[in-house]
Amino acid sequence: MGGTFDPIHNGHLVAASEAASRYDLTKVIFVPTGVSAFKNRQIVATPENRYLMSVIATAANPIFIVSRVDIDRGGITYTIDTLKDIKKDYSDYELYFITGADAVSQIESWKDYKQLFSLAKFVAVTRPDYAVNCDIISKYSIDQLEVPAMAISSTNCRQRAARGEPIWYLVPDGVVQYINKHKVY
Ligand code: NAP
Repeated sequence: MGGTFDPIHNGHLVAASEAASRYDLTKVIFVPTGVSAFKNRQIVATPENRYLMSVIATAANPIFIVSRVDIDRGGITYTIDTLKDIKKDYSDYELYFITGADAVSQIESWKDYKQLFSLAKFVAVTRPDYAVNCDIISKYSIDQLEVPAMAISSTNCRQRAARGEPIWYLVPDGVVQYINKHKVY
């Protein structure tokens, strides 16, 4: 489960739970990015804050874990490196790379993108009424997972937190408290 997670919210958690159910996954590994490629906006929370919020959000689910591979590698995060690093620890497992459809629609510009499909099955998570890039989806046999709870967005959570508006029930309770305590946004 790759993403910036700035912050992680309940839509991400529902998407992970849906993917775990659909593909009978042993674990879902949340991997917060280091420096995201192609970010046309500033990432607001530090990598450490995004990592800790992900740990808090996933703590109660026995199959959800968080990996530091992208944060500890440093520099721009390329999914080819993410998958190779995860594969080192999970060599006997089949990998699925789950992320937002917006990101996946640009996959042909990702580093070494042709190799990616031999390392993992790609799953593009969509919001309701999102227009998917069908060419990319069918060309690379990418699965789609529509998640109504993805009506929640990190951008909206950040804006609400910055304005002092409530974000209860959009993000897990512990993450609300972490954001408020550390004035993350
Ligand atoms: P992002 O801008 O954070 O997100 C793009 C869209 O996808 C947003 O609508 C976002 O919603 C949604 N999204 C992000 N992560 C999601 C997830 N795990 N489940 C469901 N929806 C999700 O995207 P990004 O962080 O740049 O990239 C996402 C992943 O693709 C990361 O793992 C990144 O490393 C990888 N990527 C790799 C390359 C490369 O290898 N060159 C290039 C770009 C991206 P929210 O804002 O609500 O999360």
